[in-house]
Amino acid sequence: MESQKCVLYDRDCIGCMECEMCDLDPGKVCDNCGKCLEMQDYASIRIDGVYDAQGNPFKRSSGRKK
Ligand code: SF4
Ligand code: SF4
Repeated sequence: MESQKCVLYDRDCIGCMECEMCDLDPGKVCDNCGKCLEMQDYASIRIDGVYDAQGNPFKRSSGRKK
């Protein structure tokens, strides 16, 4: 199985959980409360990738279906 890349550093994921910690309170695990987001009536997010249950990245299709 292909190893999963770290989302913060240039390395494989070592399961350190640093990426799960709160941006405002370093002692808290993120519970998606949204306080760090400046949301008005709407917000958008960028998705860097999608993985299946085994941690394998989904490949992007090469073109639109006609
Ligand atoms: S758990 Fe640690 S090593 Fe894995 S993606 Fe998050 S920060 Fe990177
Ligand atoms: S969503 Fe809430 S808990 Fe998560 S990083 Fe933002 S402020 Fe912290």
